[in-house]
Amino acid sequence: MSYDVDLFVIGGGSGGVRAARIAAGYGASVMIAEEFRMGGTCVIRGCVPKKLYVYASRFADDFADAAGFGWTIPEKPVLHWPTLVAAKEKEISRLSQIYANNLGKAGVQIVETRAEIIDAHTVQLKSDGRRISAGKILVATGGTPALEPKVPGVEHTITSNEIFDLAEFPKRLLVIGGGYIAVEFASVFARLGSQVALAFRGENILRGFDEDLREGLRVELTHAGIAIHAATLPIALEKRADGLAVTFSDGEQRVFDQVLVATGRIPHTRGLGLENAGVELDHVGAIKVDAFSRTNVDSIFAVGDVTNRVNLTPVAIREGHAFADTQFGGKENVVVHTDIPTAVFTTPEIGTVGMTEAESRRIFDVVDIYEASFRPMKATLSGRPEKTLMKIIVDGVTDQVLGVHILGHEAGEMAQLLGIVVRLKATKADFDATMAVHPTAAEELVTMRTRQARYEREPQIAGPGSAAEL
Ligand code: NDP
Repeated sequence: MSYDVDLFVIGGGSGGVRAARIAAGYGASVMIAEEFRMGGTCVIRGCVPKKLYVYASRFADDFADAAGFGWTIPEKPVLHWPTLVAAKEKEISRLSQIYANNLGKAGVQIVETRAEIIDAHTVQLKSDGRRISAGKILVATGGTPALEPKVPGVEHTITSNEIFDLAEFPKRLLVIGGGYIAVEFASVFARLGSQVALAFRGENILRGFDEDLREGLRVELTHAGIAIHAATLPIALEKRADGLAVTFSDGEQRVFDQVLVATGRIPHTRGLGLENAGVELDHVGAIKVDAFSRTNVDSIFAVGDVTNRVNLTPVAIREGHAFADTQFGGKENVVVHTDIPTAVFTTPEIGTVGMTEAESRRIFDVVDIYEASFRPMKATLSGRPEKTLMKIIVDGVTDQVLGVHILGHEAGEMAQLLGIVVRLKATKADFDATMAVHPTAAEELVTMRTRQARYEREPQIAGPGSAAEL
C-alpha cells in the first residue's frame, strides 16, 4: 500500500525535529506539523530563554562582587526588562528559523498547523482539513504546564509559558512548586530585582535530588533574598487593584504582582485523536511506549515528554534519533535512560549524575561518601557567603563511583563531563589518580582523599519459613 508520506511527525520540538531530519536523511518522505513555533518548549519557552535569563540574572552577583575586587559601580544597577525580553525574542526567533531551515535542507515538508490522528495511518491538518496518509506516525507533542493546586483564583496565575514575555516586570513574585522550574525562576527573578517568595507542599525543594544538595541550595536561595515557605501552599487567590492577594495554608496573606505556578507538566495528549486509533495512555495521560518508542498500534510511535519517561530535551532528541535509526535506517537503536546527567540552573547551579546517597544505600551493601564544602574563590574577596558543595558516592565493595553531585558555579558544565566518567564506570581510584587542574573548583573532585562516611547494610536476618530456614 502506498502512502502520501512515509512518516508524519506531530510536533516540531526537540524530539520531533530530530526524528524528522534523521528519517529524511535515510531517504524517507517526511512531513512535520507544528501549530506554534518550530523548536518546541525547549527553544521557544523553556531551556533556551531560561538560560538567557539566567545569564541576565547573574550580572547582579557580578555587580555585588565587583566592589571586593576594587571596582566602583553605581549603587543600584537596574534592569531594563523590555530590552531583555526583546533580545531574548530575537535570539529564539533566530533559532526557530534555523530549525525550520535545517528541516527544509533535509527535505522535510513543514506544515504550520495542528494535526490530529484520524486512524492508524491518517492525519488531518486543521488549517485546511487536508488528510495525509502516512506509513508511520510519530507523536512528539511534549507537555503543558499543570495548573495545580486547583484553588479558587488559580486562573489569575501564570506559568512558564507566560513569564518570559510579561509586559511589566513583576516586583513581587510568588512561585508555587519546588521542582526544577520553580527554583530556577525563583533564583532568576530574585536576581533581576523581584521580591520572590517560594511556596511548595514538601518539606524541602527538589524532591529526588541528593539531600545535601537540596539543603545547600535551600540555604543559597535564602541568601538571594528568597522567602521560602515549605509545606505551605496558597488556598485562595483574589485579583485586586493592588495585585493578587494570596491566602496561604498557614493563614498568612500577601499581595503579589504575579504568581507563577510551576507544579509539574502534563503530557500533551488531549485533542490529538489518539483514541481514534486506539493508542493506549497511562494513568497520567502519557502515551505508553516500549524501549523502541512503539505504542500498542503498529504504525504509531511517540517520543519525548508526551511519553513521560525522563522529561529532558537531550533525552527527547535521543529518543527521536533512535526511532529514526530503527524504523528508517535499518539499525536498531535503544535509548538507555540511566545515569543521565542533569543540571538545575539556579545560582549557584546544581549538576548531578548517577545515584544519590539515599538511592545507593538502598541498593548497595557498602556505600562510601566523599564530600567537600568550600567557599568559591571568586567569593573570597567579595565576602559573599556562598558555599560550593561536592559529593561523590562510591560502591565500597568495587570502588566504582555511583554518583557525583555538585552545587556550585558551572556545575552543569561539570555534570556533562562527569556523565562520561560515570558511564565509563570509573572508580574512586581513577578520580584520585587524575591530576588536578589548579586553581579550579573542579579539582576538588580529584583531591577528596578522606572518606566522610561509610554505610554498611545490616545483613538480612532470615525470618521463620524463609528459604534459609528450610
Ligand atoms: P517537577 O516535577 O520538577 O516539580 C513539580 C513541583 O510541583 C514539585 O515540587 C511537586 O511537589 C509540586 N507539585 C506537583 N503537583 C502538585 C500539586 N498538585 N500541588 C502542589 N504542588 C505540586 O516539575 P517542573 O514543573 O518544575 O518541571 C517539569 C519538568 O521539566 C521537570 O521534571 C524536568 O524534567 C523538566 N525541566 C528540566 C529543567 C532542566 O533540565 N534544568 C528545567 C526545567 C524543567 P513534590 O515534590 O512534593 O511532588
